[in-house]
Amino acid sequence: MKKILVTGGAGFIGSHLCERLLASGNFVICLDNFYTGREKNIRHLSRNRNFRIIEHDVTNKIHLDCDEIYNLACPASPVHYQKDPVRTVTTAVLGAINSLELAKRTGAKVLQASTSEVYGDPQIHPQHENYWGNVNMLGPRSCYDEGKRCAETIFMSYHRQEKIRIKIVRIFNTYGPRMRSDDGRVISNFIVQALKGEDITIYGDGSQTRSFQYIDDLVNGLMLMMNSPDPFTGPVNLGNPEEFKIIDLAQQVLKMTGSRSRIKFKPLPEDDPKQRQPDVSLAKAVLDWYPAVNLDKGLKMTIDYFRKEIIY
Ligand code: NAD
Ligand code: UDP
Repeated sequence: MKKILVTGGAGFIGSHLCERLLASGNFVICLDNFYTGREKNIRHLSRNRNFRIIEHDVTNKIHLDCDEIYNLACPASPVHYQKDPVRTVTTAVLGAINSLELAKRTGAKVLQASTSEVYGDPQIHPQHENYWGNVNMLGPRSCYDEGKRCAETIFMSYHRQEKIRIKIVRIFNTYGPRMRSDDGRVISNFIVQALKGEDITIYGDGSQTRSFQYIDDLVNGLMLMMNSPDPFTGPVNLGNPEEFKIIDLAQQVLKMTGSRSRIKFKPLPEDDPKQRQPDVSLAKAVLDWYPAVNLDKGLKMTIDYFRKEIIY
């Protein structure tokens, strides 16, 4: 039985990962400071004797024994990560260092949850792993984007210098049950607005694109990457290559919820990327991974979740 640490384990992605790792017969330690994560995301796991919850901030050193580390701790929604930019960049950088220092002491393998934001507002399309990105290091998104870029640098440096076994995954927009209704990201916003009959808020004219990955596909990819042969460190993109305009997503949510909400256009946030689509050929070739859940199916499961979740 492997002992696996998941930092940020009470968050949206972390809670699904903890669940799957437990179901695969591992001992799972969920470490979180509950900044954006919620106890209710992991409550159903807490009676499992192979599950531990540790309240801890990754900006402080971590002392425990483990075989593998998934470093997910970091606010991820633009609304949340821009609320306290100093805290965001500190979490990204010190969280990476403290995870790697723990790996150095224990010999554990460590996976970094990086992001498509390392490509910024990309000038090549779709984005493949060799692209270095187009990021404004001074803008409001930089606390997150540059924090995550620096974390990748820290991971590669520990790998080169200290021979730590690392895996870097660049996650593209992911959605599904257990997102917070006040998360602020586009899919949760649109679904909650549609179900409540509130205006659907489109930032800009809605012509910007994103590619949306369902949570189960991502969790499969994370576990395949962690278990890939050691010489392969990544970075590897994990995302669904189906690309949608934000305005088309709004129409789709309206249709699927049967909502009579109206669309309201609001100003586009500064540095909002115009397009984003992963090139997943590397994940396909090395991990034999490809997303299985299309937007229609994933939206249906997410709408069903929010119907039960939100207070009208
Ligand atoms: P989330 O906000 O739901 O989860 C983040 C978790 O980290 C929360 O439980 C939060 O409480 C915890 N956390 C934050 N700061 C911490 C700290 N200093 N110490 C300990 N715990 C801390 O977000 P998510 O969508 O589940 O994202 C998880 C990871 O995946 C993040 O690292 C994020 O950057 C990355 N990611 C997510 C997406 C996406 O679309 N969801 C895309 C790219 C990358
Ligand atoms: N967006 C929107 N309305 C919302 C929330 C987001 O139009 O209520 C847009 C946002 O401007 C961006 C896209 O949807 O162009 C995806 O935003 P999200 O915050 O989900 O993720 P990210 O920008 O980090 O990809």
